[in-house]
This record gives sequence, structure tokens and C-alpha cells, in this order.
Amino acid sequence: MLRLFVPAPTRLARTLATHASSPAQSSRLSWSKQQIQDLYDSPLMDLVFRAASVHRQHHDPSKIQLCTLMNIKTGGCTEDCSYCSQSSRYSTPTKASRLVDIEPVLEAARKAKENGSTRFCMGAAWRDLAGRKRGFEKILEMVREVRAMDMEVCTTLGMLSPDQARQLKEAGLTAYNHNLDTSREFYPQVITTRSYDERLDTISAVRDAGISVCSGGILGLGESDADRVGLIWEVSNMPEHPESFPVNALVPIEGTPLENNEPVKYHVLLRDNRNGPHRPPEHHYPTGRWPKHPGRIRAGYMLTTPCSPWDEDKAMMSRWGLTGMNSFEQQEQLEASKATRPEENVAQAA
Ligand code: SF4
Repeated sequence: MLRLFVPAPTRLARTLATHASSPAQSSRLSWSKQQIQDLYDSPLMDLVFRAASVHRQHHDPSKIQLCTLMNIKTGGCTEDCSYCSQSSRYSTPTKASRLVDIEPVLEAARKAKENGSTRFCMGAAWRDLAGRKRGFEKILEMVREVRAMDMEVCTTLGMLSPDQARQLKEAGLTAYNHNLDTSREFYPQVITTRSYDERLDTISAVRDAGISVCSGGILGLGESDADRVGLIWEVSNMPEHPESFPVNALVPIEGTPLENNEPVKYHVLLRDNRNGPHRPPEHHYPTGRWPKHPGRIRAGYMLTTPCSPWDEDKAMMSRWGLTGMNSFEQQEQLEASKATRPEENVAQAA
């Protein structure tokens, strides 16, 4: 049986937001593209206010979760994602490497924890785990060991089968990242080596295994506003919303097909980030320097572009009056929120 949230009545068009919407207004699973477009086009400050109001109903606004990413296998990827410096199809500064050993990963996780991160994410640049039996066993061990440090564990390993998702769950995986990137319509202009539906299949496998879903997109790929709305629409109409909706801004990488793309405008990033009509406990991961609650990715070990060091993160949090969340605090909030909104949890579908 699949549990669904019942769509709650929601007023979509308001000229002025003067009070916070109720929790019941902010959780629903059935949206038309026009409804999302109307929200998307609403005055920016109204949108920001409404998003912040919903956020405050379910989160302490002074808290964010700190996550550290580590690339455990870099470059040499067979896929053709046109934004990615790790694709072997493009001539970029990123050098290919093999899957790293377990101990350096654990050392990195320990250091991340010492510096306040409560989630440790491991990313591998490849299409999927086919033919990587030993590598997968190594990754499962990494997941077990990091989880034993009382940290949340996330991975991004390309496409997963249901059985692989189940094994990751058994090893203690908290969340799995698999972005949709953009709208279904624009997607073929960005990637041709795997389909949108294949991405959705992986997300379903992750969800069915009981792992939290982290799935969002990238802005600045050359997409239109309609594509940005299309991405939100796709995610908003999933049987269950992702717990995380990362909104990334493209950093154009020399040698990729998108190397000359214009940086996405700040207000577009803000609008998209505030517009995802997901259930309230979900968090948004930022990949820039501005804190969008309640998540911040710190990448001391990963990514193909420079990131801020630990001290800079800490100084920023101090300036903004933010403190880091404990491990699994998000999850507890999500469960508490569901428990206090039983009227939304009554629909069940076979
Ligand atoms: S699958 Fe991942 S690593 Fe490979 S090209 Fe696409 S984004 Fe890059």
C-alpha cells in the first residue's frame, strides 16, 4: 500500500500575502502547470514571504543542516550531460580517477563531523553500478562505517536497480541524490544517453527502498521559465515529494557544451528555490554562498569548482545567526509534522 497526502484546498493567487498559510494549505500532490506558473509569476517578495511562512511552521529558522560532499570516483564518465566536467566526451580540466579506498573516505567523514557536518555525501561519476560488484561492496562498507559515526549518509551513484537500492538501505543509507535536472521537454537538449523516465525509475527504486529522496535541478542550462516550472511540476506531482529539492546554479565549465552559458540571475534562483510547492518539512540544498534554509552543502573534498573552506562557512553562519542541526533532526521534524497533520495522511492507494 502506498501512502498519499490528500491534496488540501489552496488559494493560489493572492495579490498580497499578509499572513502565513496554514500547514494544511501547503501540502498537496496534485498541481497543474498553470497553477505552478501562477505561483512562479507572483510578486517576488510575496513568494519569499509565503515560503518563509511555511518554513517557519515546520522548522526553526535559525537552523540549517550542514552536509559535506566527497567525490569517491572522479571523471571518466560515459554519459553526455552537457554541463558536466566529468564526462569523458568533453575535454575539461577534470582528471579521471579510480574509486577511492575506504579509509580516506572515513577520514574525510570524521573531519567533516568534527567541523559540524551531520550528513556525509559520497558521489561517483558513472552511469550506473553495472559490472561494479566489488566497487559496490566497497561503497556499502563506506555507508555502514559512516553511519556508525552517527552521521546521516547520502550517495549519488547514478542509476540504481531496486535491489541495489535495497542493499544501500540495509547498509544504513539515509538519502540518495538523483536530480531530474530540468523539465521533461528540455531534458533531451541537455542529456541524450539516458532518458527522463530512467531517472524517474531510479527515484522510484530509492523511494520504494525507504530511502529519502534528494532530487532537484540545475538552473542556467539554457532553459526557459516554462522549463523551470516544468521541473517543479514534475517533482510536485510525484506520489511522494522528495525530502530534498536541490536548486543548483550552473557553473559553466571550460570544454563542456555549456561553457559559454550566462550565469543564472539571482532573482531567478531565488524564485525557483522558494517556489517548489513541496510539503513543508522538506529542505532545500544550496550550492552557492547564500543560505537557503535549512541545508548547506560544504564540499571540502568534492566538486570540480572551488568551495568555501570550513572557517568561512562558520563565519558566515555566525554573521547570519545560524546554527547547525543535529544528525537526523530533519527526519524527526518530518515525522513530527506528519503526526500533527493526520488529516493529510488518510488516503491510501494500492
Ligand atoms: S552522469 Fe554524472 S558524472 Fe556522468 S556526465 Fe552526467 S552528471 Fe557528470
